[in-house]
Amino acid sequence: MLCGLDIDGVLCDLGPSVAGRIADRFGVSSHPSTWRSYDLRLLRLGVPEDRFSAFLDETFNDPDLYRTAPLCAGVVPALQALANAGWSLVGITARPAHLAGATRAWMARHGLPVGEIHHTAVGTKSAVARRLGVAATIEDNPTEAELLADVCESWLLDRPYNLSAPVVRARRLESWDDAVGRLSQLRLFA
Ligand SMILES: [Mg+2]
Repeated sequence: MLCGLDIDGVLCDLGPSVAGRIADRFGVSSHPSTWRSYDLRLLRLGVPEDRFSAFLDETFNDPDLYRTAPLCAGVVPALQALANAGWSLVGITARPAHLAGATRAWMARHGLPVGEIHHTAVGTKSAVARRLGVAATIEDNPTEAELLADVCESWLLDRPYNLSAPVVRARRLESWDDAVGRLSQLRLFA
């Protein structure tokens, strides 16, 4: 059985690096745990909107952001447990294709048991999931998680920036520990 994993905010924690770049560029201190919107453009940091938007585009297109980013808490033992429970793990990410090299290198450096990595546009992950025949996905983007619920068991991993988003069809996971518990069970009784 295949499980499709989102990368940013699920495996890879870009928060500290992005916060560092915001501080460098705009002189504004902002901790990721206080971010309450999935779309960082909507953060109210008191910086000019157009400059902030251009800065975010530049930041998220920079391979160096991803090379140095840390793992999200709990990822390594959780992925190992899922693999041991019989899941085959694939990446499904909205990172643009030019980041494929940096993404693959980061996975390898951390020794994550993730096979193929599929790059696709925001809002189109469900098409990839359907094509691959994945049984489950784990996301941090509430909109994408709802779309994925059309084609598989769709799980939304709780993050400070997605807690207020209404989720109807996807189901929430509190943590990676919670993910292991629920997905191992799914596998057991499938
Ligand atoms: Mg994500």
